[in-house]
Amino acid sequence: MTLTGAARIAGVVGAPVTHSLSPLIHNAWLEAAGLDGAYVPFACPPDRFEAFASGMRGGIVRGLNVTIPFKEAALAMADEAEALARLAGAANLLQFEADGRILARNTDGPGMLGAIAAQAPGFDVSGRPAVILGAGGAARGAAAALKLAGAPRVLIVNRTRQRAETLAADLGVEAAADADAAVATAGLIVNATALGLGGGEGPVVDLTLAPAGCVVMDMVYKPLDTEFLRRARAAGLARVDGLEMLIRQAAPSFEAFFGRPPPETVDVRALALDALGETAR
Ligand code: NAP
Repeated sequence: MTLTGAARIAGVVGAPVTHSLSPLIHNAWLEAAGLDGAYVPFACPPDRFEAFASGMRGGIVRGLNVTIPFKEAALAMADEAEALARLAGAANLLQFEADGRILARNTDGPGMLGAIAAQAPGFDVSGRPAVILGAGGAARGAAAALKLAGAPRVLIVNRTRQRAETLAADLGVEAAADADAAVATAGLIVNATALGLGGGEGPVVDLTLAPAGCVVMDMVYKPLDTEFLRRARAAGLARVDGLEMLIRQAAPSFEAFFGRPPPETVDVRALALDALGETAR
C-alpha cells in the first residue's frame, strides 16, 4: 500500500529489534484492513531510548510497542500509566497523545490471559495457585495480570532467589520456598524465563507433580513446540504457546495506534508460523 500524508505511523522499539514479529503482524493487519498506515521497527541504542521516545511527544507518531530492554524505562518516562503497568513495573505500549502526554500500558499480561482463554478454554484463574517460572519483565506482567484477574495465589520460582523475592514484595505475591511443592498445587504453570529459546531445554521443574487439569504455558515461541511443552504433553497437561500470547498482546496495541480492532480476515498466526519456519497447528 502507498502511504499518504495522512498515514498513521506506529512501531516497536528495542535493542535488538531484528527478531521482532510485531512488524509482520501489524503490517499484515493494516494491509488486510486497507488502512493508510505503517508499523516500523526502531533499533535503538540503550543510551538513546529516552531521547528517542520523548521526541515522539505530540502524537504525530501514534505510539510504540516497547521490548527488551526498555520496558521499565518506558514506564518511568510516561506521564500516566494504567494500573496493570504500574503494578507490573513495566510497560510494553506507549501512546503519544496530541496534548504531549505519554500514556504507558502493559498488554503482555492480558495477552497471556487471552492466549490461555483461547487454547485452554476451561481454565478458571480463580481455582488453584498460579506458578510463574522467572522474575524478569515478562514474569512481572504475568504476575500482575494473574493477581488482578483473581488468582488465589501467585508463586514465583526463579534461579536468582533474590529477584523472585523482590518481585514478590513489589507486586504483593509470593516467592515459592520449594518449586516442587508449588508445582504440586498449581492450576497454571507459566515459563517466563528465556529457557528453551532456540530449542534448548526448558526450566527444570518436575511437571509430573502437577495436578490433573493443570495448564502449562510457555512464553517462548521459537520453537513453538518447546521442550517444556513437550514435557507437559507427556504429563497429560493442557498447553498454551507463546505465539498466541504474542498475537493477543499485539491486538490492543493495534487498536490504540490505528483506532480499530485488527481485522479477522488475515491469519497472522499462519504468517508468523511461516516466518518462524514452523508448520501451522
Ligand atoms: P528477562 O527480564 O531478561 O528475564 C529472564 C528470566 O529468565 C529471568 O528470570 C532469568 O533468571 C531467567 N533465566 C535466564 N537464563 C536462565 C538460565 N540459564 N537458567 C534459569 N533461569 C534463567 O526477560 P523477559 O523480558 O522477562 O522475557 C522472558 C522470556 O519471555 C523471553 O524468552 C521472552 O522472549 C519471552 N516473552 C514472550 C512474550 C510473548 O508474547 N510470547 C512476551 C514477553 C516475553 P535470573 O533472574 O536468575 O537471571
